[in-house]
Amino acid sequence: MSAKLLEGKTIAGKIKEGLKKEIESLKQKTGKTPKLVSIQVGENAASAVYIKSQKKNAENLGIEYELKTLDAGMTEDALIGEIQKLNQDKSVSGIIVQLPLPKGVDHKLVMSSIAPGKDAEGMHPENLGHVLLGDAKLAPCTAQAAMELIESSGVKLYGKEAVIVGHSEIVGKPLSLLLLNKFVTTTVCHIATGERGVLPEHVKKAEILVVAVGKAGIVKGDWVKEGAIVIDVGINRVDGKLVGDVEFEKAKEKAEFITPVPGGVGPLTVTMLLRNVVSAFKLQNKI
Ligand code: NAD
Repeated sequence: MSAKLLEGKTIAGKIKEGLKKEIESLKQKTGKTPKLVSIQVGENAASAVYIKSQKKNAENLGIEYELKTLDAGMTEDALIGEIQKLNQDKSVSGIIVQLPLPKGVDHKLVMSSIAPGKDAEGMHPENLGHVLLGDAKLAPCTAQAAMELIESSGVKLYGKEAVIVGHSEIVGKPLSLLLLNKFVTTTVCHIATGERGVLPEHVKKAEILVVAVGKAGIVKGDWVKEGAIVIDVGINRVDGKLVGDVEFEKAKEKAEFITPVPGGVGPLTVTMLLRNVVSAFKLQNKI
């Protein structure tokens, strides 16, 4: 058996089609245009790629996109001051701060200074609290992207066994809560699981497997449970090629559904960011 591919691009395309129509009708209803402001401190090649993709996708949907590039030597206080101005600006619906930030700038403090209602990435502690409470308004984008891919399989989630490898704040931790909210029995593995040598035994139980580590091939294809849904969040460059964290060729012979890398989670993450901007716009306009 060879797994069906969960193509992020196709799923993102459908969501974007819906968002485009919704934005058009929101503009007519309010006379306003949703706007995302992206803050970049200094220059960074990796974030330049993300910014280009965010801008193109936003503008295609009818969301205004403004990039503010600030001086690399800017102090933490001055950066927070800029964010506070955007918090007050009624024309701004969403704010994203591009990482990495310069050394000495506390990124958690910076993220927390974004007004929760304008937090396009869904990483403000208040928004993370809503994810925990099961009434998320703006949730972390990559975790939402993984959830969309899992749900696109059409498999009933209630009571299923999920294993997430990776417990970062942007992926593993919030995704574990999104899955728990759907009554999925969820195990979260991390570095200590790997060091203890028990990663294979956890992975082998997974009917839903999500891997977000950032180490090529850390999950072996023969660990994958027959019929599993496999979501590979990892992005690694090996010999000039992008690969995920799961041994794809072997895993696809055992899984029922699997995401390709590239083309799985990536295209959906930016779509989730823009969906958050639309949700923020609706919250601000009490729609
Ligand atoms: P991170 O470095 O913050 O977290 C890595 C996680 O892996 C940690 O929980 C760590 O404990 C765990 N880990 C490390 N070694 C391990 C081992 N040997 N066994 C088990 N667990 C181990 O990473 P992140 O920011 O969550 O990103 C993870 C990967 O996902 C990266 O490749 C990143 O590029 C990718 N990513 C992709 C997208 C996307 O849109 N496609 C978005 C975010 C991150």
